[in-house]
Amino acid sequence: MDQYDVIIVGTGAGGGTLARHLAPSGKKILLLERGDWLPREPQNWLAQDVFVDNRYVSEDTWYDSKGKPFQPQIHYFVGGATKLYGAALYRLRERDFGELRHHDGISPAWPISYDELEPYYTKAEQMYEVHGARGEDPTEPPASAPYSHPPVSHEPRIQQLSDQLEAAGYHPFHAPCGILLDEQNMAYSKCVRCANCDGFPCVVHAKADAEVMGVRPALEHDNVTLLRNARAVKLETNPAGTAVTGVVVERDGATETLAGDLVVVACGAANTAKLLLESASDEHPNGLANGSDQVGRNFMFHDSVAVLALSREENPTVYQKTLGLNDFYFGSDEFDYPLGNIQMVGKSQAPMFHGEKPGETKLAPEWTLERVARHAIDFWLSTEDLPRPDNRVSVDRDGKLTLSYNETNAEAKKQLYGKLRSLLGKLDMNEGHLFHRFAYMKNEIPFAGCAHQAGTCRFGDDPATSALNADCRAHELDNLYVVDTSVFPSIGAVNPALTAMANSLRVGDHLLERLGASKYAAAAA
Ligand SMILES: Cc1cc2nc3c(=O)[nH]c(=O)nc-3n(C[C@H](O)[C@H](O)[C@H](O)COP(=O)(O)OP(=O)(O)OC[C@H]3O[C@@H](n4cnc5c(N)ncnc54)[C@H](O)[C@@H]3O)c2cc1C
Ligand code: SF4
Repeated sequence: MDQYDVIIVGTGAGGGTLARHLAPSGKKILLLERGDWLPREPQNWLAQDVFVDNRYVSEDTWYDSKGKPFQPQIHYFVGGATKLYGAALYRLRERDFGELRHHDGISPAWPISYDELEPYYTKAEQMYEVHGARGEDPTEPPASAPYSHPPVSHEPRIQQLSDQLEAAGYHPFHAPCGILLDEQNMAYSKCVRCANCDGFPCVVHAKADAEVMGVRPALEHDNVTLLRNARAVKLETNPAGTAVTGVVVERDGATETLAGDLVVVACGAANTAKLLLESASDEHPNGLANGSDQVGRNFMFHDSVAVLALSREENPTVYQKTLGLNDFYFGSDEFDYPLGNIQMVGKSQAPMFHGEKPGETKLAPEWTLERVARHAIDFWLSTEDLPRPDNRVSVDRDGKLTLSYNETNAEAKKQLYGKLRSLLGKLDMNEGHLFHRFAYMKNEIPFAGCAHQAGTCRFGDDPATSALNADCRAHELDNLYVVDTSVFPSIGAVNPALTAMANSLRVGDHLLERLGASKYAAAAA
């Protein structure tokens, strides 16, 4: 049996980033990915195929706490969920790393401070070529370097929105975007600034996703191997149960066991929990890394709502995701608890409304779906979801995954919605009209439930209350690590991917040290 120095399971924000970071070390690295390359095809950019026909959504069936089946909006491809993501690459706020009191309870502290993660945020922003502007957002945490790429410019209606927000006393900012856009030299820009970015795959590979920026650069090194369509189904340990000795993989209808000195799991929050729980053995009867009974628990996503407002004038914006607003992140004059983040979401297109029916509700009959889409300005509001032990992933003997979830922080979410609604008149938008829309795709559970999933395997200093230590190593196993969003003790209210990437680089430095290759660490770069 081949022995690898490192096996990484999953190639998304966590796993793909780690692979690129470890690759130059020359160590023998194996990447396991249950999906294949996402096919590059015209349908990548067709709203009907992507949003209505769910062309790139897995065929998995999960169950809610009442046993009702649903299709989770999960994407099994090289690059994971980042293949479809909106590439809004935000840092958590500095205070998100400490304990924060919310309307519904406490958002717990992380075992590391913002300062410890900061150099890795900078490195991750460089790796993913984040375009942004420092100094515009008053809640922005300190950064050791400017963005390496200028902010993506606003199109006229969004610039007008920014000016109107400023005139009303707020602090809109250029959203941090991971797209390979060169506005100074469009003839050579990989990104063509199209309307089909947020929620779509990028057919020209100009989105800074984990395949393009992580896996492909890693594979340029001969010491890195990628096995596609290879699903890890179990982790085996030595007889004492102190180390993982084998990763059992299903591939091409056969089962094989692969061995690595270090094993890193990065399957996304739900699937990481599933793999660890299904690896139960006599030594670990509750699953691996689960001495604290925390694996699967504290499932979080963002308490999000996608809304569209109707601009009095038409909104011809093509690439809309350029503006953010954090003035209510930590509260408002009327509400003394954190509310969250407001940002733009991909521009509405009429085919996306299939199943959403705004034209059949208050707007009918004078507003056709096409007219709604032409006037729509689309916002994405995110409030922090709090970790609750009963919000959890569990797996039965047959591998059936149940996601039990009850909403948290509903009042804060309502307040944030109310805040935006109260501003519409000042923003040249129709005051009466702020409509919920299912951004991306329609589903039985909220979209963010799967897209922004986190928790389930939190890291912490106390083995009684956490699955992993501060290095994201399982408390009870010497060579098992986790680097995806499942490690988050809290999720904050900004998009999660950059934090997963940064943490992956941080853990990567620790792994390089263990492998005797610390000269390849980010700090030395
Ligand atoms: C439509 C959409 C829009 C989004 N927009 C944004 C955004 O703008 N900004 C942002 O920050 N975040 C966004 N997100 C969320 C972001 O993509 C995720 O937070 C991030 O990708 C999570 O990283 P991860 O490593 O935890 O998991 P993933 O990126 O999902 O990677 C997990 C990988 O593991 C693989 N895998 C799973 N199980 C196994 C197994 N048993 N064996 C082998 N491989 C396995 C999966 O196929 C996948 O490739 C969005 C997500 C979606 C779906
Ligand atoms: S906006 Fe740019 S990165 Fe996004 S899908 Fe279009 S070409 Fe790709």
